[in-house]
Amino acid sequence: MQQEEQCFDLVVVGAGSGGLAAAKRAASYGASVAIVEGSRVGGTCVIRGCVPKKLLVYGSAMGEQLADAPSYGWPVQPVPPQTDVLLSHVRREVDRLNGIHEAALARAGVTLVRGWAHFLDGQHLQVGDQVLRGTTILIAVGGEPVRPPLPGADLALVSDDLFLLERFPRSMVIIGGGYIACEFACILRGLGVAVTQVVRRQLLRGFDGGCVASVEAGMVDQGVVLRKGTSPQAISRLPDGYQVTLVEGGSLEAEAVLLATGRQPRLEGLNLEAAGVVVDGQRIPVDQDQRTNLPHVFAVGDVTDRVNLTPVAVDEGRAFADSQFGHKPRRADHSLVASAVFTQPELATVGLSEEEARRQHGEAVRVCEARFRSLSRALPKTGSPCHLKLVLGPQERVLGCHMVGEHSAEIIQMAAIALGMGATKGDFDRTMALHPSISEEFVTM
Ligand code: NDP
Repeated sequence: MQQEEQCFDLVVVGAGSGGLAAAKRAASYGASVAIVEGSRVGGTCVIRGCVPKKLLVYGSAMGEQLADAPSYGWPVQPVPPQTDVLLSHVRREVDRLNGIHEAALARAGVTLVRGWAHFLDGQHLQVGDQVLRGTTILIAVGGEPVRPPLPGADLALVSDDLFLLERFPRSMVIIGGGYIACEFACILRGLGVAVTQVVRRQLLRGFDGGCVASVEAGMVDQGVVLRKGTSPQAISRLPDGYQVTLVEGGSLEAEAVLLATGRQPRLEGLNLEAAGVVVDGQRIPVDQDQRTNLPHVFAVGDVTDRVNLTPVAVDEGRAFADSQFGHKPRRADHSLVASAVFTQPELATVGLSEEEARRQHGEAVRVCEARFRSLSRALPKTGSPCHLKLVLGPQERVLGCHMVGEHSAEIIQMAAIALGMGATKGDFDRTMALHPSISEEFVTM
């Protein structure tokens, strides 16, 4: 039977952060827009990433607050967490946000097409029994966890699975040293799970080394067991858990294993060859206007594998829509993107690490740092010290601003404005301190 095609000015593939932003912005300019989603509307960030993860971070950190409470005159006794309750409450919030995003699409007049999209040619996509024709097509399918080719890799959990558990296990081996591994090591440890983290090189490669050392000290202090310089060889099942054998010899046992060994664009099933979209390895290369090798096919977010962060995908999506449908051409700016790792202690950063600044500017680099216990920890006398760091370049320009400690993500977000404006150490010094605060150290160093 001949399938009737539905025609749109824009077909967006993937209702995650980048796709949703682009679809709604394009619709606001009067374009007819369809968005295709095979899973839940909201994508990685809302459904199985940033948002539920941050809620788990809050839940995990609650234990430390309870432990500190007696020193502030609240004579509460430590109690074991009910991780089943935490996980079900987090899922309820994710459901609520999923509903909000679906309602927002409907309000914006965007047609939601449920199913997995498959290119038939450069202009047409098959979704279930429907055929969509897009004058312009945006690929915003995001990424997915990578399982390394280890024997037994399929026995391990990946980060997506953690949000679906009924309760957290009593012990876990986490493989990886990146964002996801470190964040979950801290979340789980804070919830009483015995965590061993297998790190083949170093933690948080690419971040400022001195700050990573402070995070590492805090994680060890919290009770995360780090096995650095080790790699997994195989994962096997035991009667009551799993065993990870290590390349360097020996093995680790736990109730569960988490593979947090990176993410990659989710291209499977898209049939990009039929469209003629060029792929580089596992990613879709684009130019500064988010355009692929085809003039009418664009891509934003993690599928382009550049700066894989939600706000970047959102801005790329909006810049694409402004340029293609709003007659307001602009490009997403990938310089000075602030980011945070929600470990306990939290790490946040904007600009160059000390190592990268020295590579680029050599002797001209100067570093100012402060390490101290925050006032909030003065009574309980617990917790790792805060670590604040400014990396200065030629003419004392602030090239990097890094922080480990309470509220560092909130503080660095504001510092990013100053760095974006080209602030110098003199500008920081001229700013009156706000006392007592942690971030006042940035203007008094
Ligand atoms: P990362 O790329 O950050 O880290 C992957 C880690 O896995 C590295 O430590 C790597 O080691 C290790 N690894 C890879 N393969 C193996 C292997 N075969 N054996 C042992 N170790 C291995 O990936 P993540 O999964 O942590 O995060 C993916 C992306 O998600 C991030 O890049 C980030 O963009 C995003 N994200 C952002 C967050 C935030 O903003 N707070 C939070 C979570 C994710 P090595 O260093 O030796 O290569």
